Amino acid sequence: MAVILAVHAHPDDIEHLAAGSLALLAAQGHAVRIATLTAGECGSAETDLAETARIRRAEAAGAAGLIGAEYRCADLPDLGVFNDDAARRAVTELIRWAQPEVVIAASPADYHPDHEAASQLVRDACFAASVPNYRTGPAAPLEAIPHLYFMDPIGGRDREGRRIVADFGVDIADGFGVKQRMLSAHVSQAEWVARQHGIADHLASMEAWSRRRGADFGVAVAEGFRQYRHEPYPRTPRLQDLLGAAVVTAAS
Ligand SMILES: [Zn+2]
Repeated sequence: MAVILAVHAHPDDIEHLAAGSLALLAAQGHAVRIATLTAGECGSAETDLAETARIRRAEAAGAAGLIGAEYRCADLPDLGVFNDDAARRAVTELIRWAQPEVVIAASPADYHPDHEAASQLVRDACFAASVPNYRTGPAAPLEAIPHLYFMDPIGGRDREGRRIVADFGVDIADGFGVKQRMLSAHVSQAEWVARQHGIADHLASMEAWSRRRGADFGVAVAEGFRQYRHEPYPRTPRLQDLLGAAVVTAAS
């Protein structure tokens, strides 16, 4: 059994970009942990910060619970994620809490400043988490740097509109129903996404993206991932091996 940590900036990001793959891993009996760096407390025009944070944490925990995953929030401020000393220590403590063999993080290039900062923080915290003298809290240092992967950016493009090419796709046909239910757990976001993003139906938006990624790999629905391979991070294809036959690598 492997421990896989998926970590992104806000509640519902993971449900858009990686929940199908996480559902497949959970169904195989692996331990999946889901974390967000913020509670997404700016994601409402109806409730204040504290109430929105409470609602969205509960929604995220509910979504994670659908695949038996533990959920944790690092409590960084929404729209206030920066790559600084305090945030790196907080994210390192989060990774030490999870004790993962595989970490799946936000894309380095994405539409939202918190997403890009979260990607850098998680990348560097994966290194720091195995350094015993780097002190962060009660959780024990990791014995090794975990295998690190990036999800797709929202919409599959960087801020200049360039397409991000995935190293490989995961055929999520068997996990797609669970992915839909996990995103549906984010009840508060249906209205917010319509107001702030002009997306009338966030479930339909997620499905459209999953089908577009699927078309890149010749399957119905897929999620794309890239592996971070710079030293001293492990380069062996641990996540690909865990997902086995669901991995698809047709040219995109
Ligand atoms: Zn987000």
